[in-house]
This record gives sequence, structure tokens and C-alpha cells, in this order.
Amino acid sequence: MAKDWKVGFIGLGIMGRSMSRNIYRAGFPVTVWNRTPSKMEEAVKWGALTASSPKEVAQNCNLIITMVGDTPDVREVIEGENGVLSGARPGSVLIDMSTISPDATREIAARAAERGVAMLDAPVSGGDIGARNGTLSIMVGGDAEVLEKVRPVLEAMGKSIVHCGPVGAGQTVKACNQILCGLNLLGMVEAFAFAKKAGVDLEKMLQVTTQGAGGSWALSNLGPRIAKGDLAPGFSVRFQQKDLRIVLQEAERMELPLLGTAVVQQLLRSVQAYGGNDDGTHALIRVMEQLGNVSITPKE
Ligand code: NAP
Repeated sequence: MAKDWKVGFIGLGIMGRSMSRNIYRAGFPVTVWNRTPSKMEEAVKWGALTASSPKEVAQNCNLIITMVGDTPDVREVIEGENGVLSGARPGSVLIDMSTISPDATREIAARAAERGVAMLDAPVSGGDIGARNGTLSIMVGGDAEVLEKVRPVLEAMGKSIVHCGPVGAGQTVKACNQILCGLNLLGMVEAFAFAKKAGVDLEKMLQVTTQGAGGSWALSNLGPRIAKGDLAPGFSVRFQQKDLRIVLQEAERMELPLLGTAVVQQLLRSVQAYGGNDDGTHALIRVMEQLGNVSITPKE
């Protein structure tokens, strides 16, 4: 029998606003807080209660979820003045679902444990569509028994919930996912440049390669958009760069060379230099066009 969770949800951005709503739809009471208060109005309409700070969320709830931006943002809402830990009662559970540093995650979890609060890291893959449809892939680090207790709440947001290991392991697996996304992206734009330069029809190239051993999520989902010249996000260059920074910092800490990831990060830096921060990651095709002096995407 699932515990009666009173869920607090912090961060109603592109992801959090849908995830919190899906928790409510699954039958759990939800209290929300967002830094920009106007974003809470939509949640009030579907039935959420609101709090005036992360501290108040924690005082009123026994399961607190954070879905904010980067590592410093998570630290602020959890460890800061009026943060979750200043209000959480012993026995509460804290789940951070943002994508942040595995190392920082372990530090935050240790601070939470000092206050009798169990923390899981549970970053997600699946984007805004997965968040809306409740079909996210959720990778969890932390105590397996705690995960089993909160699983019904996670099931409201995701279709795949995998226990990856101790605290930080969820973020580590997410980092692996982002390495793969980055390198698949690079493989895709190089294949596009090669096909175009050789005069092969791009749609035909895609038709074959998406079904072959070189296929990838990027090729199947972003390839057709490149062929049409549609570079809107999807997943933005800004967020991919945040994630690759986390990967490369962690690799540095482990003294692990990640040559391919570093190249992708620098190529995406060039996309940013040309004003593409908010484009989808497949805007990497523009850099490839310049490198190879080849026009690949249809121009208006
Ligand atoms: P977003 O739309 O930019 O929303 C970010 C949310 O975090 C907003 O509610 C924002 O509040 C809040 N926030 C940021 N910094 C804060 C701070 N210092 N203090 C308090 N609140 C703060 O981002 P998102 O797309 O929902 O992504 C959230 C997390 O999920 C990120 O870690 C991202 O990497 C990860 N993720 C995103 C996707 C995706 O496709 N978007 C996919 C997988 C994982 P305001 O409203 O006040 O700005």
C-alpha cells in the first residue's frame, strides 16, 4: 500500500509544470512554489496549493520534488535561506529531478541526511513531450527502499523508472545519456554533409540509415527536421551545453579523457557564438555547413 504522500513541487518551468500536474492527476495532493510567482497561477487552476517559499513547501509536505535549472539553482532552493532543508521534517523525502552535477548531488544528499531527510536524484530524459504525456525515462540514485516507497509518485511522471545505484548514480547515467546525445548529433551532421557534398538525396540517405546499424534517436527524430530546415528546439543548445559542462567537469575530476564530448561542446560553442543558444541542438548543422562550405538545410 503506497504511503500517503503530500507532494511539494518546486520549479514550474517547461518540464515541472506538466510533471506536477501529472502527479496531481494520479491522486496526490500537490503544493507548488515557483520563483516567478505568476507561473503558479496555471497550477492553482488545476488544483494545486501554493507556498511562499521552498521552506514553506517543505513544512507542508512529506515528499518534496525540485525541478529547476543548474547545480547552483538546486543548491539555492534546497540549502539556501528559506530553502527546503530549513523547513523539512525528519522522515521527509527529497527528490531532485533537475540535471545537475553528480558530485554536488552527493554533497546535497549528505546535508539532507544530517536533517533526517532521505534524498534521491532522479533526472529525466524525454523532453517536454515526455513530461506532458507522463512518459519520461527516470534514472534514480539513492536508497532502493526509499525509491520503492515513492515509486507511485514517479510512475505518475514516467514510463521507465530505473534504480541506477547509490546517490549520484542517476545523475551519472544522465551524463552518459548526454555524452551519447552529443556524439550521435555529431555523427548525424557529418553524414548529412557527406551525403550533400556527394550529391545524394538527403531523404533517401535518412530512409536507409535510420533503419541500419548507424541509426540513433537523433537521426530518426532530428534528421528529418534538418532535411526540412527546421532548427527549432526540441532540446536547446543552452541546456545541452549545461549538461556537457557537467559531463566534462566530472570527467576532469575523474581524470578521464573524453575527446569526442569535448569536440561536440566546442562545436556547439560556435553555434552559440552565431546566436543559436535557443535553437535546437541540431543547429549544429550550421557549423558543419561552414566547416565544409556546403549548404545542407533548405534556406528561406
Ligand atoms: P525551464 O523551463 O528553464 O524552467 C526552469 C525552472 O527552474 C523555472 O521554474 C525557474 O523559475 C526555476 N529556477 C531556475 N533557477 C532558479 C533559482 N535559482 N531559484 C529558483 N527557481 C529557479 O527549464 P526546464 O526545461 O523545465 O528544465 C528543468 C530541468 O530539467 C533542467 O535541469 C534541465 O536540464 C532538465 N531537463 C530538461 C529537459 C527539456 O527538454 N527541457 C529534458 C530533460 C531534462 P522561474 O520561472 O522563476 O524562471
